[in-house]
Amino acid sequence: MTFSDLGLSAPLLKAIHDLQYEKPYPVQEQAIPALLKRRDLLGISKTGSGKTAAYALPILELLQQKRATKDRHIRTLVMVPTRELAVQVEETFSMLSKHLPVKIKSMAVYGGVSINPQMINLHNTDVLIATPGRLLDLVSNKAVHLSETEILVLDEADKILELGFKDEMEKVFSLLPIKRQNILFSATLSNDTNDIQQHLLHDPVTVEIVEAENNIELITQLAYHVTPERKGPLLRYLIKNENMEQVLVFTSAVRTADNLTGKLIKNGVQAASLHGHLSQTARLETLQRFKAGKLRVLVASDLASRGIDIQQLPVVINYELPRSPKDYIHRIGRTGRADAPGKAISLICPEDQHHFGIIQKKMGKKVETLESDDIDLHGV
Ligand code: AMP
Repeated sequence: MTFSDLGLSAPLLKAIHDLQYEKPYPVQEQAIPALLKRRDLLGISKTGSGKTAAYALPILELLQQKRATKDRHIRTLVMVPTRELAVQVEETFSMLSKHLPVKIKSMAVYGGVSINPQMINLHNTDVLIATPGRLLDLVSNKAVHLSETEILVLDEADKILELGFKDEMEKVFSLLPIKRQNILFSATLSNDTNDIQQHLLHDPVTVEIVEAENNIELITQLAYHVTPERKGPLLRYLIKNENMEQVLVFTSAVRTADNLTGKLIKNGVQAASLHGHLSQTARLETLQRFKAGKLRVLVASDLASRGIDIQQLPVVINYELPRSPKDYIHRIGRTGRADAPGKAISLICPEDQHHFGIIQKKMGKKVETLESDDIDLHGV
């Protein structure tokens, strides 16, 4: 199956070619034809599966077919849980729309930054990618109108709900026209997502991509027993000696992330931290530097890592283990994505051993664990 088999027009195929996507991912194979037929869709799949292009491509195709509406009347609304995801989704829309004859303007809006520039820039926007709170602020300022929206996407619906945005979402639904196409993507289904599904989707096509297990099979997992005081040096040793070009290091506490970053820099390793205590601008800037390959090590706390999409990250290191096995899988899923194999390394102190045992049991996979006592860490 190729992208041209899916019924997409030449300008979109050209953009796909520019992005070097060779063939459609399963979620794209299944979702694109259905969405082009204006069907509603329930997609059960997570970040990393290619879900963004799975809805962005057919949406861009459909938006070519009709004239734009009045200014500030959004034609497609994509609701997302976080600012990072908003930015990523917008990037996908702009990259894919590059060669279209009828220009499509996409824009991301989110809280935590000043609203004024967003209000000004919203002119002539066709595709709006928004977090729920900021969207409602913009609506009440009359900066956007949703009464002519043709397509609604809820991306990572489970996370939008987890973050407590149910009321905001429902308020948004009430502002949309009744006749529209609805697309809902969620990594998991729950009673809450079920409510939204029932309410929103009419005779949907369901696409389910079970990725977690496949992903784990793609990842080489390894652990080192280490004493707490040798952890920092061991991390630096691994980064330097294994010539890791780019690595994502996880900590559970913000303070550890900052301390660790400071020590890495002091020892000549280019690093930056990413966590919720930083300003939005600083977070975006760091993420962009890392994505552009200008930063060797990104030290992230769990919250900041949600929805981070970095292409083909070769190595992930758990400097500290996450509390839940689910988060462990989520973290190591940052590597070994799509067709690229990856490596996940965990540093295990004596007090972590029991917890690491539980993680392995829940994951159903034993992780090879090496001793690090014999590694000479002087001067790293
Ligand atoms: P997503 O699940 O939308 O966050 O996408 C995960 C990553 O896969 C993104 O970096 C995309 O650029 C990339 N991607 C999406 N579709 C394809 C494809 N068909 N071939 C190769 N890479 C893709």
